[in-house]
Amino acid sequence: MSAHLNPQLLELLEHFRLDRTYVRGEGSWLTDDRGRRVLDLSSQYGALPLGHNPKALWDALENERRLGTPPMVQPSRPLRAIELAERLAKLAPVGEGDGVVTFSQSGAEAVEIAIRLARLATGRTIVVGGERAYHGKTLGASALTWESSKAMREALRPPGFAHVAWDDAAALERFLDAHQGEVAAVLLEPIQGEGGVREPGPGYFERVRELCTKRGVLLILDEVQTGLGRTGTLFCAEQLGVRPDILVLSKALGGGLVPLAATIAAPHVWTEEFALSHGSTFANNNLSCAVGLAVLDALEGGLVERGRERSRELRAGFDELARRYKGVFRAIRGRGLLLGLELEPVGPESSFFMQHLFASDAVNGVVASYLLNEHGVRVIPCLTHGRALRVQPSLDVTRHELAQGLAAFEALAKTIHRRDWSCLVAPFLAGEKTGRRPVDARPLERPVIASRPLVEGEEPSRFAFLIHHTAPEDQVGTTRAFGRLPSAELRSLYEWTARFPGHSPLCHMPSIRGKGRAVAEGWLLGLTHTPESMRARPRAEVSAEIGKAVLAAQKLGAHVVGLGAFTSIMTQNGAEVPSQGSAITTGSALTVAVAVDGVKLACERLGVDQSTKRGLVLGLGVVGSAAAVVASESLGSLVLVGNPLRPERERAKASALMDRIYARAIAQLDDPDARGIAAELRRVLPLLGARFFEAVARGEPATGLADEVVSAFRSLGMRAPVELAPRLEAAIGEADVIIAATSAAKPLIGPDDLRPGAIVCDVAKPADVARTVAGIRDDVLVFDGGLVRYPEPIAFGQNLGYEPGVNLACLTETIVLALEGVRGGRFGVGLASDLVDEVPRIREAARRHGFSVAELRVNGRVLPEQHFGKVREAAARRRAAESRRLRKPSLPLSA
Ligand code: PLP
Repeated sequence: MSAHLNPQLLELLEHFRLDRTYVRGEGSWLTDDRGRRVLDLSSQYGALPLGHNPKALWDALENERRLGTPPMVQPSRPLRAIELAERLAKLAPVGEGDGVVTFSQSGAEAVEIAIRLARLATGRTIVVGGERAYHGKTLGASALTWESSKAMREALRPPGFAHVAWDDAAALERFLDAHQGEVAAVLLEPIQGEGGVREPGPGYFERVRELCTKRGVLLILDEVQTGLGRTGTLFCAEQLGVRPDILVLSKALGGGLVPLAATIAAPHVWTEEFALSHGSTFANNNLSCAVGLAVLDALEGGLVERGRERSRELRAGFDELARRYKGVFRAIRGRGLLLGLELEPVGPESSFFMQHLFASDAVNGVVASYLLNEHGVRVIPCLTHGRALRVQPSLDVTRHELAQGLAAFEALAKTIHRRDWSCLVAPFLAGEKTGRRPVDARPLERPVIASRPLVEGEEPSRFAFLIHHTAPEDQVGTTRAFGRLPSAELRSLYEWTARFPGHSPLCHMPSIRGKGRAVAEGWLLGLTHTPESMRARPRAEVSAEIGKAVLAAQKLGAHVVGLGAFTSIMTQNGAEVPSQGSAITTGSALTVAVAVDGVKLACERLGVDQSTKRGLVLGLGVVGSAAAVVASESLGSLVLVGNPLRPERERAKASALMDRIYARAIAQLDDPDARGIAAELRRVLPLLGARFFEAVARGEPATGLADEVVSAFRSLGMRAPVELAPRLEAAIGEADVIIAATSAAKPLIGPDDLRPGAIVCDVAKPADVARTVAGIRDDVLVFDGGLVRYPEPIAFGQNLGYEPGVNLACLTETIVLALEGVRGGRFGVGLASDLVDEVPRIREAARRHGFSVAELRVNGRVLPEQHFGKVREAAARRRAAESRRLRKPSLPLSA
């Protein structure tokens, strides 16, 4: 990549694998520096009517060279410029009589000249254009070029320019009426090219002409893209049935060899002030004009007709594709060889990835990349229309070349029709042809399933939940069709998506009803980030980006915004995001509740009495700590394992946590049914100082209680029921029940770590338990923690890979808070957040609305009833084998 030629654009091209270096061009073909041939159906936005390096035009240049014509001789009577001006003036349909031509070097410059002419001719200032127009990027032209961001538009539009809705004559009439006597000209493209090849409806231009004529306003037609045969006639104006006062040409006029533009003014527009004040060093260049003359020769020598014939074939080909592959093209627009293909949006039922591409206007980049890398066909994405591709072959394209191009489009249409997104992304990930054929992935689609729709007058509470992928495999849960991608490609795609930070709405949920009368409406908002991409950047920057996504959620009207996965971790558990009057939740309380409920369910299924079991909580963040406290009420003993990289901090955290667990146990002692740590603590009660009991009674922290409990147990020759283990390896082999809740980027628990019969509830995203464990160890029960069963089979389209009616607890907490009618406040927010008291409240609220812990599952698959019996048997076998091994007398070292 060059750092000296628009590095950001080059980076974007590289991102989409469109950054080829072409070293040869001939007709419709380009060859890159690796020798790959590409069929160019873009013809440089229509600037190559005869393709690349046409012989006729080079011959014209050679001829001037032979003659020794001076290219630049200002001021004088420039030979070829006069010749070209005369021909253009005769051909162009402007005003009454022949026009007067001003040459320049680019489309934008020619538009500037038109504005200058119009203002001088009318003595008025305002020039009004159409929304989504493109006229170039010099100051006046860019004032009428539509920028997609409103802020850019406002910054770049000086006084004296305005936009009105495109293809809306009434809107123009209102504008002209409101600015009587102030408007110099209306400047329009006959067909908006960059804006997505959008044609106005019949009669629009006639009406515009009428409005202008009545008010003495000039009509300027920008035929930079549509002119010179592109739409099937020499000028598109001929087909519109109107004669503008000024006509602007460029692109094809220079034949792709030289920069050349012409502004052709009707005689009544031409003024002496303009004539004697205007100038440009490179204008009236004989060499450029010689090329322009050769272009006109070709156009008048049959090229327009040939182009028209090819356009019929191309159009018929596309219409046939649209007929055969339904749901691919929303529209095929344009005339002649200026065609625009607008893709039908793909929604969350098929792919969150595709939904993001559509929402962020990036889909045309991916599709152009697919065509280029898989099929060697080059088309250019429209700049101001993210779903449209322009197909603009040279007018000289052959029938055979068009057939080749159509074959590539057929492959594209088939891929999209079959919803095989793996096939669409593979070539741009690889940067070259993969030879893959699309399979029918439509059965992998999942509709959005909502509750009964809102009825009139019903006002829903609104929620939004921020999500992002936390591991390459997550992408299969949001786009099942990616299941075909090998893991290396899944990883490339995961990294690819994260390269450009952004967010977009991925799924709209029109209604979710709980068991009561409440109803919620909401959105999943996706961030392109991954844990790795977030960690690679300064945290403050990432936190600010997450803040922007939260603001976007609030703009959607969310009363409750939930922070999924790392969006809470990177914002100090949500403390840094703006609340702006909405409630913010990390969803952690319900995650804890459901993890602990899941452990209970697992123990029941395996017939295990929790109160006799040794628990281990891995990860002492907000979720792990709260889970430890809640689980201490049922487990017989507990080991805490923190982050080994920060031993001091974790020791302090664990010590406070242990004080808290024991204090809670003391508070439960009056309950004869108290189990877990409370039951264990009874053994040492007489040995504990009275001050702890007083502190607990007053609801104060029982600092130092843990130390005293440890010495009390030690004095009985026993281990204390709650301990901190310095490292996971030291403790995991003893643990019967594990709750894993770290924010580690990689799995921490492998197949050899667990004891027979161990139960592991993995709440972490990305998972703390390696995916392989479930397959290798049939004697342990590992399950995905933090999942909720909904009262109805609700599905957010692809639904993160879960079946309808199941979803993440953190998302569910966001929904439950919305159903509760919460409008403000922070839940589970802040690093020192104390979830313990929130857990029973949110669990109870969830229960009231009909949400409960989901059936146990591993790697997304629900475990069948017989699975638990098999685990029990395998654990028993393994225990027996292990004890046999221990009992076996050791062999003598030498025989
Ligand atoms: N007008 C129209 C309709 C165009 O399509 C373009 C360029 O695409 C321009 C003006 C600007 O031309 P240039 O890029 O040569 O400045």
